Amino acid sequence: MIRDNVIKILDELPANVKLVAAVKTRNVDEILEAISGGVNIIGENYIQEAQEVYEKIGNKVNWHFIGHLQRNKVKFAVKIFDMIETVDSLRLAQEIDKQCQKISKVMPILIEINSGEEPQKSGVIPCEAVALVKEIAKMSNIKVMGLMTMGPMFGNPEDSRPYFRKTKQIYENIKSLNIPNVQMKYLSMGMTHSYKIAIEQGANIVRIGTKIFGKRI
Ligand SMILES: *Cc1c(COP(=O)(O)O)cnc(C)c1O
Repeated sequence: MIRDNVIKILDELPANVKLVAAVKTRNVDEILEAISGGVNIIGENYIQEAQEVYEKIGNKVNWHFIGHLQRNKVKFAVKIFDMIETVDSLRLAQEIDKQCQKISKVMPILIEINSGEEPQKSGVIPCEAVALVKEIAKMSNIKVMGLMTMGPMFGNPEDSRPYFRKTKQIYENIKSLNIPNVQMKYLSMGMTHSYKIAIEQGANIVRIGTKIFGKRI
């Protein structure tokens, strides 16, 4: 089932769009089955869960961190992850820079945009995105590679479109500024219900859990 789901999704995705399998709460066997279907990027929300799975699967796949990253977990995160998609503050970026320096790594990151400007949600609000990118761009062990957003949750995925569109505009704006050490290459938007709309609005990374693995219990 899981394998077939992945094969079908990959078959339908445009060639330029990368699939991140959002694996929170899934076990190693489920994740291995997804990998057998062609998944090559694992998206993890939790550091401890990632450590357990990483021990068994290792770096034959790429690892993206897609959850809310606490600064006291950064030293573990930088060892496992190939990209951190959810950087939304200078303090978090400074800690990533510091911990990466210690292990001589340059961490590709995405800036998480709170595109719905929801107070309880992670992400930098749109009007502060450029200033944040300019500051992080000065850090030598971080490479800004694009943007990520969740957007508000709706029953009707079509309602997500304005938030994806807004994030794409921020992405194009930052790209046009040609900030040194910043490359706007990846735009990570869309989940099971919304990824088709996100792709129409310019996403080239989609993060899918439920459609691969079934409902989370
Ligand atoms: C869980 C999760 C997803 C995948 O959600 P589904 O609706 O199960 O596809 C995508 N992105 C993030 C950040 C998530 O936490």
